[in-house]
Amino acid sequence: MNRILLLLPALWIPFSLLAQGVSFSSDKDTIRTRLVRDVAVLASDSLQGREAGTVGEWKAATYLGSQFRAIGLLPKGNEAGSFYQRFQNFQVGFHGSTHFLVDGNALIYREDFGVTALSKNGHAIGLLVDGSQGLVIPEKGIDQLDSSGNLKGTFVLIDLHVDRTLIRDTSIATKLTPRYRMKMALERGASGVIFWNPDSPWNKKLFDFQSTDTMPGIAVYVNSSIAERLKQNLGALADINVRIDRKTSIYTNVIGYIDNGAIRTIVVGAHFDHLGLKNDGRICYGADDNASGTAGMLEMARYFSTHRDTLNNYLFIAFSAEEKGLVGSNYFIAHPTISLSEIRFMLNLDMIGRLGCAGNIVKIEAVGSSSEWRRIIRDTQHHSFSIKRVSAALPYSDHSPFYKAGIPVLFFNTGLHEDYHTITDKLNTLNYDGMAEVIRFAEDLVASSDKASKISYHKVSALSQTSAWIGFLIQALGWILTIN
Ligand SMILES: [Zn+2]
Repeated sequence: MNRILLLLPALWIPFSLLAQGVSFSSDKDTIRTRLVRDVAVLASDSLQGREAGTVGEWKAATYLGSQFRAIGLLPKGNEAGSFYQRFQNFQVGFHGSTHFLVDGNALIYREDFGVTALSKNGHAIGLLVDGSQGLVIPEKGIDQLDSSGNLKGTFVLIDLHVDRTLIRDTSIATKLTPRYRMKMALERGASGVIFWNPDSPWNKKLFDFQSTDTMPGIAVYVNSSIAERLKQNLGALADINVRIDRKTSIYTNVIGYIDNGAIRTIVVGAHFDHLGLKNDGRICYGADDNASGTAGMLEMARYFSTHRDTLNNYLFIAFSAEEKGLVGSNYFIAHPTISLSEIRFMLNLDMIGRLGCAGNIVKIEAVGSSSEWRRIIRDTQHHSFSIKRVSAALPYSDHSPFYKAGIPVLFFNTGLHEDYHTITDKLNTLNYDGMAEVIRFAEDLVASSDKASKISYHKVSALSQTSAWIGFLIQALGWILTIN
């Protein structure tokens, strides 16, 4: 018998069973020690504030991956055997040096004019000429651009309108696009084009900065009244400078799974990225935002891998790039690594480290996302704090993409404070016993939820959403005024 055959019986044991061996103490002091350690690692100097796309974020991700492995979670990243869901993200920065002068008079950036995604970066000065609609379609006998070579060094004003009869003719569709019209103008010597027409069907595409396929010329867009003014000023000197900073970054979600053989899965998520460094190089540690929630998510993973049940599987996700606009959670919803239809609900932990800061209150938001939530929250014991329920599911943390995908969600937090998004959000400001209480409550809430056969999705009323937004903005304004 050869060695490979001898090894086979071991391979027959499902990986999920092999991974179940680890158990974690529920002793209060032990939990506290683990929370302190996890936060201390995530909010340490070496992770440099965990800005998405930086080495600091990757270090944080590998720490989380190592913890998921130690807990015995199953990898649910993009590739088999990996906890990491790595993805590319394009970032666009609009630089202040962008300008557009007509005979020395400046137009207002983002009001009078904007830069289109077709534009290269660069500076040019040229005469304003009218290119009508900029159409060059020889097979239809149409040529609206000067072919005598007089476009050299000019900026061509192009109305993006096209007659219906031409749009209906699919054989010339490629010759109607702004890109093609710009190409024709550049081939005839123009330095760039100035598009206008608010009703153009191509406008959305013109501002799709996720595309990096630019043209070798300048392409700006003006509003209708500026277009009228330019038409009155043909022959004037246009001075246009365009500067867009494009950056491609790699972001990383970290995803682990407990397979209990159930038909449904509960998702527990927390973003682990933060703001990185201030302009002066000082670190935004993000201890509360959101090392606290990330440590809470790890602790819940330890709890549910120790206390197995057969009703639910569990998916734990540490989201990347929340601070860049919920990028990681949106990416997961667009590229899920389990079927979204099996998700029973999602719990989001974001800033759970300041219990007592604004009263002894835990805020539970998005309660309106299922009609079952009020009963389940009522059935779940909590001794050391009171609960503030908020119906609305506002789009300022990672529960939002799940909610929008039709999944019931709850968002736990202990509120905003004066250290929020500053360099003073440090690990010594956290209430670790309070965190443990919030985590315990979330774990017990899962048990309470098991009594319901279905947690049905409910769309929060527009009125609740709007009034919560207004409340949030007033609170944020008050907070900005107090810290200044
Ligand atoms: Zn934040």
